[in-house]
Amino acid sequence: MAEKKWVYLFHDIDQAIDAVGGDWEKVRGLLGGKGANLADMTRIGVPVPPGFIVTTEACIAYQDKNEFPAGLWDQMHTAMKDVEKSTGKTFGGTENPLLVSCRSGAKFSMPGMMDTVLNLGLNDATAEAMVKLTENERFVYDSYRRLVQMFGSVVLDISDEKFENVFDGYKSQNGIVADTDLSTEDLKFITNEFKKVIRKNKGYDFPQDPFEQLKLATEAVFKSWMGKRAVDYRRATNIADDLGTAVNIQTMVFGNMGWDSGTGVAFTRNPATGEHKLYGDYLLNAQGEDVVAGIRNTEPIQHMADTLPEAYKEFVEIVDRLEKHYQDMQDVEFTIERGKLWMLQTRNGKRTANSAVRIAFDMVAEKLIDKRTAVMRVTPEQVDTLLHPQFDLENKNKAKESGRFFSSGVNASPGAAVGQVYFDADTTERMAKEEHQQTIMVRPFTKPDDVHGMLVAQGILTSEGGATSHAAVVARQFGVPCVVGASAVKIDLDRKVMNVDGVIVKEGEWISVDGSTGEVYLGKLEKFEPSLDEQTELLELLDWADEICATPGIRSAERPGYPTVGLQVWANADYPKDAIRARKYGAKGIGLCRTEHMFFEQERLPSVQKMILAKTSAERTEALNELLPHQRQDFEGLFEAMDGLPVIIRLIDPPLHEFLPTPEELQDRIIRERVKGMADYLLGKRESTEIQELDKLAHAVESMHESNPMMGLRGVRLSIVMPEIVEMQVRAIMEAAANVALKGMKPKPEVMIPLTGHVNELNVIQPRLEALAKEVMEDKKINFYYKFGTMLEIPRAAITANEIAEVAEFFSFGTNDLTQLTFGYSRDDAESSFLVKYVEDGILPKNPFQTIDREGVGDLMRTAVTKGREVRPDLEVGICGEHGGDPSSIEFCHIIGQNYVSCSPFRIPVARLAAAHAAINHQAK
Ligand code: PEP
Ligand code: MG
Repeated sequence: MAEKKWVYLFHDIDQAIDAVGGDWEKVRGLLGGKGANLADMTRIGVPVPPGFIVTTEACIAYQDKNEFPAGLWDQMHTAMKDVEKSTGKTFGGTENPLLVSCRSGAKFSMPGMMDTVLNLGLNDATAEAMVKLTENERFVYDSYRRLVQMFGSVVLDISDEKFENVFDGYKSQNGIVADTDLSTEDLKFITNEFKKVIRKNKGYDFPQDPFEQLKLATEAVFKSWMGKRAVDYRRATNIADDLGTAVNIQTMVFGNMGWDSGTGVAFTRNPATGEHKLYGDYLLNAQGEDVVAGIRNTEPIQHMADTLPEAYKEFVEIVDRLEKHYQDMQDVEFTIERGKLWMLQTRNGKRTANSAVRIAFDMVAEKLIDKRTAVMRVTPEQVDTLLHPQFDLENKNKAKESGRFFSSGVNASPGAAVGQVYFDADTTERMAKEEHQQTIMVRPFTKPDDVHGMLVAQGILTSEGGATSHAAVVARQFGVPCVVGASAVKIDLDRKVMNVDGVIVKEGEWISVDGSTGEVYLGKLEKFEPSLDEQTELLELLDWADEICATPGIRSAERPGYPTVGLQVWANADYPKDAIRARKYGAKGIGLCRTEHMFFEQERLPSVQKMILAKTSAERTEALNELLPHQRQDFEGLFEAMDGLPVIIRLIDPPLHEFLPTPEELQDRIIRERVKGMADYLLGKRESTEIQELDKLAHAVESMHESNPMMGLRGVRLSIVMPEIVEMQVRAIMEAAANVALKGMKPKPEVMIPLTGHVNELNVIQPRLEALAKEVMEDKKINFYYKFGTMLEIPRAAITANEIAEVAEFFSFGTNDLTQLTFGYSRDDAESSFLVKYVEDGILPKNPFQTIDREGVGDLMRTAVTKGREVRPDLEVGICGEHGGDPSSIEFCHIIGQNYVSCSPFRIPVARLAAAHAAINHQAK
């Protein structure tokens, strides 16, 4: 059997493509993202310093026994020969020595999480050879001391502090401030001192054999795959452990060889705004880390046109080619060594939400990508960000220029927050509630007993923890902007201050937290509420998303009756003004109008209470007759706003005592009345009628007491016990529809009966209501479309959906209740007590009230769709619980064959994009 191939030269990419059967994703899996792109750039003729890639498979094989798999070392030797040939240099040679870098590169970028060693191949002899060759002794010994330090800390695991102490100690003893002021002799001395650190800590010398250096450095990169930093990062980003990292061995090129050399980083478009203009920085006579470390002020990339015109011209041509090749905005690193341009890396650039939309939109106009690709380039989370309050980019830049940038961390929960800093939950809460301050809660990390502070804060900042830490989970759950893991921030809880490199923020001072980007600024930054109307590119992108969903055949129908287009997005809207907004945001119907909200309005509540307290049916009907015109008017408004589109109106759902005062409130009022009339009372006069009324109400409330009202007399059960209410509601709906139809519009009412558990409940109530609908049509002498259906919120209803569908003409999943009843959790109790812990400890992967639990609740939903359509193939199925606006839940609704999702008007843009993503990701074959 031929020996396994562990090593691919950059110019051998075709072999790697063949080895994995031609799939580029698999090439990235084998060679890592960085290696695959280096090899790909080599193939298309971009100047890349020669090198080779040790595969991710070798990394995985290494983890088994902590040793190189058979054949790997020989293959690395052979590959090195090839690199020597391409460069005309020799690894370890004393004429023209070859130096290489050794860098990790996993399939998915894990920035800074794994190890890198530069300048491998330098030793005492090659250093002297380099001095002769470059005539730049300082440069050579600067490189050498960097190698010994990096090798010592990264490969030999000696604490970096030990090297830093030597370095800083030497500088302060000799009165040297900047690294650039170190002379050749200083650097030679420091290199030697660094070697002593290694000998002292390891008992052996810094290896002079370049191949030994290479082997140990490669092993160090392999090991760093399982290092704590990398493992934590993978947990937080859902990257699998068994992917492994590749190792890139690449010829070193130097940007610090004089004023005809330089180095820089650039994006092919502006990553903040999306503007189609090269964006980046460079430095002459410098190494990559100088650009990143900010020791010297960098120059805008465009200035290179004057300083290194030839190289700049070539650079612009190459990055243009790379962008066209990858059909996406590129983030590149380059070095110019004595006038010669080398590309060191290219990858798809990270970008802000604004920029993602603009780039996707522009690239369609430039015919670089199609609309589908553009829609996939923007994530639902980015759309979400664009709808939250934001900081203006220019303001942020100005704040940066004036030194008000404080720190940055993980962008855990989007949105912009401005407030005064407090370092514990109690003070945060007190200042917010009693002093009406805008507050930002700052903690090293948060715990469940900090939640009261987090809920009232405008924003949250922590110095520890990642994207799934307690603070991040809670903040996202409650929509509070949050930055976590800002590790440069040192918090002193006793003194109530925090500082970053000496910049101090005290309790009560103002900061601005950008949860969308992870940045924190000193003082107050102005916020703005983005308007969707003005985001014309986003609106157009959302229209493309709708077009994709509406494409016939994009979804494969499991059986006849299942939809063959993607999901539609409808809205949960109770009032005409919400319906108007929903339609503007792109809703194709109303999936839930919670009618009881209308009962709470001030002028209606007395009639509602009169209706509840009625002793006789006649009294009840009288009260309901007062409500009827109000309801009819509400519904007319809805039908007019949604002319031609379906409007699902849910009949009364909550228990009636929700419309009455609580026993405590009543007791309070009675006592106050009694105190007022104390004199009369003491004189034994009759109590006032007011008190008598209150007493009556108190008795009624008491008699309606239920121990578990959410599972008591509500939903369809209430309609069966007290049918007059829903009869009034259906009359109002149908009369409103008739009136609107008579005006020449097309109302499409769908009446929804909540909380059905048994088909017999529908059998009792639905025919009575349908008869009413017919009666109204006859009275008004007009026909219009209508439907009667039910909510599926009770597990039993889902399991017996075939029976339910015999009567119900449509289903809508009320996943809030369905989740409560499937898990046996009360949502309010769970969220304020154990649920956060459950998610944090991984007992539950996600909050099931935010994202559908596919295995449990989801399975019931799938069962219901299947069984329902067995008896009624064209059954319309949707969802109207909170999950209707959550991208993962939307994907699940697509998979199980629902027709639409319904969510709050503000979530509609997110849902439209998520629906298109689901349609594309699960496209019919
Ligand atoms: C539901 O249970 O998902 C639902 C939409 O109803 P409500 O939230 O009004 O109980
Ligand atoms: Mg419900």
